[in-house]
Amino acid sequence: MNLYEYQGKALFKKYGVPVPQGYVVFKPEEIMDFYGERVIKAQVLTGGRGKSGGVKFASNVEEARKLAKEILSMEIKGHKVHAILVEEKLKIEKEYYLSILIDRSTRKPLIMASPEGGVEIESVPDEKIYKFVVNPEIGVQPFVGRALAKKMGFTGDLAKQFTNILMNLYKLFREYDAELVEINPLVLTEGKEVKTEMYPPMSGMTLSTKAPGKLIAADSKVVIDTDSLYRHKDLEENAEEKTPLELEATKAGYAFVELDGNVGVIANGAGLTMATLDTLLLYGLKPRNFLDLGGTDSVDITKNAFTYVLKANPDAILVNIFGGVTKCDTVAQGIIAAKEAFNINMPIVVRLSGVHEEEGRKMLEENGIHAFADMRHAIEKLKEIMEGSQ
Ligand code: GDP
Ligand code: MN
Repeated sequence: MNLYEYQGKALFKKYGVPVPQGYVVFKPEEIMDFYGERVIKAQVLTGGRGKSGGVKFASNVEEARKLAKEILSMEIKGHKVHAILVEEKLKIEKEYYLSILIDRSTRKPLIMASPEGGVEIESVPDEKIYKFVVNPEIGVQPFVGRALAKKMGFTGDLAKQFTNILMNLYKLFREYDAELVEINPLVLTEGKEVKTEMYPPMSGMTLSTKAPGKLIAADSKVVIDTDSLYRHKDLEENAEEKTPLELEATKAGYAFVELDGNVGVIANGAGLTMATLDTLLLYGLKPRNFLDLGGTDSVDITKNAFTYVLKANPDAILVNIFGGVTKCDTVAQGIIAAKEAFNINMPIVVRLSGVHEEEGRKMLEENGIHAFADMRHAIEKLKEIMEGSQ
C-alpha cells in the first residue's frame, strides 16, 4: 500500500527523521494565515508532482488558497488530488537522495544514497548512487551511516545528522514492514550566518561564521507490504487506490475490481476468474468487473455477490464456477435467490462444473437460467443473447 506524502512524513516524525513543519487541508479555506513563505503540495499517490504543477510556493494566505484551489481540481497522471499539504518553505542549499527498499536479487534491505537528489533516481548515473546491502540480523550500525555520509560528502555535524536519519529510517522500515521508504529530496538547508562581537583588544570587529544547515526530509514515499497491514492498525487503508464500489465489495469480503466493459462476472478462485475475463475478451465481450467469490459454500455469499455486480450496472452477467469446496447446487440456490431478491431482468448465463454440477444446472434451468458445463458454451450463449438484444 502506498502512503500519501503526509502519512509518510507523520511516520518520519514519529521515528525522529526531521520533516518540515506543516499540516494537511482538504479545503483552501482551511489554510491559516502566515508570515514568510509556504509550499503548497498536492497529495496524490504518484510521483513527479513538481513537474506536473502539483508543488507551488506562496508568500501570503490569499495566494496559498488560490493555488490550493487550483491544485485540488487538478488530476496528476490520472490521480485526483486527495488533499493539500501546507509546509514551511525550506531554504535549500542542496538536494540529496536516500532510500531503503527490499532488493529482490539479494533478498535483503538495500540502502541507496546519492548526492544528486530532487530528480528521479532512474536518471541519476549508477556511479553516483551509493548502495549498501543490509544484513537484516545485524541491521544498520553507525559505521554504515558514517561510511555512506563520507561518500555523500558530509562531515562533522552533518555526518552525524545523516547517520541518525539513516538509522531511524531503517527502524521505521523494519517496524512498519515497508517495501520502500524514500526521501527525495533529502534537503540540506542553508546554514545561518552567525556574527560574534570580538573582545578586546579586537573590540569593534565581528567574527562571522556559518552554522551548518540541517538535513530535512522534504518529500516522502513509503510503501507498506499490504499483507502486513493487520499488524499496523494505525494505518488507514487508502481509499484512493480503490473505487468506492471496490471498497464496498472488498469490505464485504469479495475480491472485486471494476473494469470498463459491460459483462458482470462472478467466478470462484482468482485464477479461474482471470481466465474468465480472458475468455470473454477472446469472444469479443468486455468484462465489467473481476469478482472472486473465494472458497465458500454459502448461498448468501453467492447471492450477495450480485449486489456489487448489479451496482456496476452491466448489461448481462456471467457466472463461472468450478465446484469443489463450493458446491454447484449451493451456488445455483444463491443465483436463484439473487434473481428473485434483486429482481434481475438482464440475461444471466452460468457455467457450473464440479461437485453437484448436475443438480445445480437442473435447478437453474427450472428457473429459466441458462446453465452449461463448459465455459466456452456459456460464453457463446451469452454472446448470442447479447447480440440478439441489440
Ligand atoms: P515530487 O515532484 O512529487 O517528487 O515532489 P517533491 O516534494 O520532491 O518536490 C519537488 C521539488 O520541489 C523538490 O525537488 C524541490 O526542488 C522543490 N521543493 C519542495 N519543497 C521545497 C521547499 O520547501 N523549498 C524549496 N526551495 N523547494 C522545495
Ligand atoms: Mn520528490
